[in-house]
Amino acid sequence: MKPSLSRTAAVASVAMAASLAPAAGALAAAPAAPASPASRPAASSPSAAPGKGVRLHSNAELARELRRIERAGHGRVKVRSIGTSNEGRPLWFATLGTGPKRLMYVTQQHGDEPLGTESALQALRTLGVGDGRDVRRLRSKVTLGIVVRANPDGHEHRWRYNYDPDADPEYGEKGKGYDINRYHDPAVRPEDNPVPEAAAVERAYARFRPSVMVDYHMQGRYAFPPPDGREITTSIQWPTAQGVPAGALKRSRQVAVRVNGAFTRAGAVVSQYPGGSYQGIARNAYGLRGSASLLVELSDLPPARQRFQVRTAYLSMVDLAGAAASGRLDGIDPARADAIPPRGPELPQGARAESAEAA
Ligand SMILES: [Zn+2]
Repeated sequence: MKPSLSRTAAVASVAMAASLAPAAGALAAAPAAPASPASRPAASSPSAAPGKGVRLHSNAELARELRRIERAGHGRVKVRSIGTSNEGRPLWFATLGTGPKRLMYVTQQHGDEPLGTESALQALRTLGVGDGRDVRRLRSKVTLGIVVRANPDGHEHRWRYNYDPDADPEYGEKGKGYDINRYHDPAVRPEDNPVPEAAAVERAYARFRPSVMVDYHMQGRYAFPPPDGREITTSIQWPTAQGVPAGALKRSRQVAVRVNGAFTRAGAVVSQYPGGSYQGIARNAYGLRGSASLLVELSDLPPARQRFQVRTAYLSMVDLAGAAASGRLDGIDPARADAIPPRGPELPQGARAESAEAA
């Protein structure tokens, strides 16, 4: 397919948005890598007209783009595979920085929730390819690792699950595969995990030892109830399982406050996400393991707003790393997380094709 003009526009709009987000601005203004060709529109909905939404990297293009970023970073970004999907695709983990504060982001555990992966590529370009003073300082304070597209098979098949059609999963769908984001249970050893993608994230987490873990997903479409009525673009939630250490919960809520602020400054409309307490969900599982843990859900907005969604998530990634680097994250009052309003009702056009239950 032809290279997409919309990617160039997306890069320009990121720089523009960054000027509205002071905390991320200096970093986000760093030059981005050249626009790259990509393969298909983001939304699974048939109403997504090709060419209008963000064009997504295919798995092959993602691998090439990560290598390109690695080369452009001249050693500042390292990309390696932390495992293999059932269909033999590498699971990419990109790291940058040398600092003592360790953050880990995961994108696209659900194959049909792709936009966080595009945001991650932009964050890697800004933080890993850029070499201005602010970015160099950030890299001296922080080590960031990103699992870029945890579910390449699901991306290929355009569905939520991994690819394991012979399985009869407790969480997942027979004939398709497992729901990766139900298989991070700290009580199950990675070698006993039936889901290779989840086991790879668990092993990478154990080696990387991040104090902050953020998991990027997509949800349907929701609004605040009247009289507010605004459409919610982003929902977030911290761990809600029983047994999460108090310190991890406090730091998770500090991360939530910071991430809420980054999205809001970028023009997003943020709510809490009404997630469950099951300990196999990454948000809960990595909180139970002692990290600050946060789920981010980008709403599945129409194609014309997908670039906005990618940009706001990108800004949240850069901003959180910056706040960790500066120490500002530690000074946040965790009680402010309670002021993030609950999610409102689903819009009539908002149901996702695969499953009304996101996360
Ligand atoms: Zn999801």
